[in-house]
Amino acid sequence: MKYSDLCEVYERLEATSKGLEKTKILAEFLGKIKNEPQIIYLIQGRVFADYDERILGISQQLAIKAISKASGINEEGIVKEFKKIGDLGKVAEKLMQNKKQSTLFSEKLTSQKVLANLQKLSTLEGNGTVDKKMGLIIELLNSASDKEAKYIIRTVIGDLKIGIGSGILRDSIVEHCFSPENIEKKREKSEEVQSAYDTTTDFAEVFEKTCKNKLKEISLSPGRPVKVMLFPKAENIEDAFRITGKPAAFEYKYDGFRMMINKDENGHVKIFTRRLDNVTNQFPDAVKYVNEYVNAKSFIIDCEAVGYNPKTKEYMPFQAISQRIRRKYDIERLEKELPIELNVFDIIFCDGKSLIQEPFKKRRELIEKVIKQQKFKIVLAKQIITSDEKKAEEFFDKALEEGQEGLMAKNLEAPYKPGARVGYAVKIKPKGNDFDLVITGAEWGNGKRAGWLTSFDVSCRNGKELLEIGKVSTGLKEKEKEGTSFMELTKILKKLVIKEEGKHLQVKPEVVITVQYQNIQKSPSYSSGFALRFPRFKMLRPDRGINDIATIQEVEREEEKER
Ligand code: AMP
Repeated sequence: MKYSDLCEVYERLEATSKGLEKTKILAEFLGKIKNEPQIIYLIQGRVFADYDERILGISQQLAIKAISKASGINEEGIVKEFKKIGDLGKVAEKLMQNKKQSTLFSEKLTSQKVLANLQKLSTLEGNGTVDKKMGLIIELLNSASDKEAKYIIRTVIGDLKIGIGSGILRDSIVEHCFSPENIEKKREKSEEVQSAYDTTTDFAEVFEKTCKNKLKEISLSPGRPVKVMLFPKAENIEDAFRITGKPAAFEYKYDGFRMMINKDENGHVKIFTRRLDNVTNQFPDAVKYVNEYVNAKSFIIDCEAVGYNPKTKEYMPFQAISQRIRRKYDIERLEKELPIELNVFDIIFCDGKSLIQEPFKKRRELIEKVIKQQKFKIVLAKQIITSDEKKAEEFFDKALEEGQEGLMAKNLEAPYKPGARVGYAVKIKPKGNDFDLVITGAEWGNGKRAGWLTSFDVSCRNGKELLEIGKVSTGLKEKEKEGTSFMELTKILKKLVIKEEGKHLQVKPEVVITVQYQNIQKSPSYSSGFALRFPRFKMLRPDRGINDIATIQEVEREEEKER
């Protein structure tokens, strides 16, 4: 397919903010890429499947250099334009337009070529990488029209701005492949396609299989990350029983972080967080534990890794071990200083067989069978099965006494639904005044703090839409050694800048933090319609992504409760 045809669709998608219209445009377009399903990645603003961890590694600076080389305009000129326009794609469009007036160019660029060059970016390593990467981008820019240049640059820097999330993509596949005649049918097919996506996290494969009527062939495959099942919140034990039915399994809700540990037929272990980041290298201890103490050839187990103090053997809150998730060096030392215990609570694949359709009680029986428990290495989540509210309350108190977060209540008959927040299990926590939110903007500090970002705009979500709810400027440390510092957060956010306006930056919504607050007020100052009073940074949540942040409905509920 010609890249210009794809760009025309990008333009149409960008021109409307209405989900239904976008779905219609895409559904029609999908017919043209049946034989090239990977073009779907470009529509997502990516070049690989969602589960694929390879990154292009192109900073804004490098993109500016590439535009400069391709357009013949010096870098300062480009930075100046960027400050004015605020969108590097549009800058490329404008500058290439000037150039193209004097050059002859033919409409030869194909989407496959764009995909191939951009995919190559992630494979380059070692000496001369930067030049080679630039070469690949410049090659594309040189054969691109001005419009094409805009979308190439946007894709390269990971900000396509056409507003296509996984919901719209799913709906367009349903629309294109089934043209459902009524709402019932539409819902049924949406669920099938969504479930296939949550299992593979690869829209190209889902599209291809849906077209060929082979959705049923989609299955789990250890080594390829699968989305974790999510849990809604119950107000209390009674509410939990109402959702799960009686009897229910109650388990400790451990205060650590989620790990999906995969072992394939060839014995390779891979560990993913709930945002599908591969953290295998950071956790050689976990790899060792599953190799030694899980008696199965291949599996996918779902567990919570909890930190403990190696000297006192006391469990520690997530905060204390969170640095292990991102740390790429000193792994051995961290492994000793911040050891973890795996608390296994589910298994969804074992010895060549998917178990997601099996009832929870069967899956629990299986982990009891295949896992050889070793205190402080790998254990099963503590569990009781009861219909008695009092017994559950006592168990709840015990969990809190032992420093855990609360309880999970689980429906014994329920299957496992990757990616879905269904009431097959619910969490019960004591009321805590904090939310996980995503940073969407930041502001440079003054005086002593000049050079650091010192105030952070935080947002919750309504579906896919992000809504601001406050500004956080306290709780971070001045010095790096004392915990998360302004400097550390500045370093992280500087890589995510989308737009700069005076002292204010708009950043890609990728950094999730826990924010404590005193109370919530209705407020016209923020797009959510609410403001957190006295918001305070509590911790970074590198294991969580944008889908894990608080929803506006949760905020509303908390605000109502406070009244
Ligand atoms: P929340 O992070 O508040 O949405 O709570 C859900 C999280 O609790 C899960 O994603 C797990 O990381 C964690 N968790 C801790 N213990 C358990 C357990 N026994 N069963 C399921 N999830 C658990």
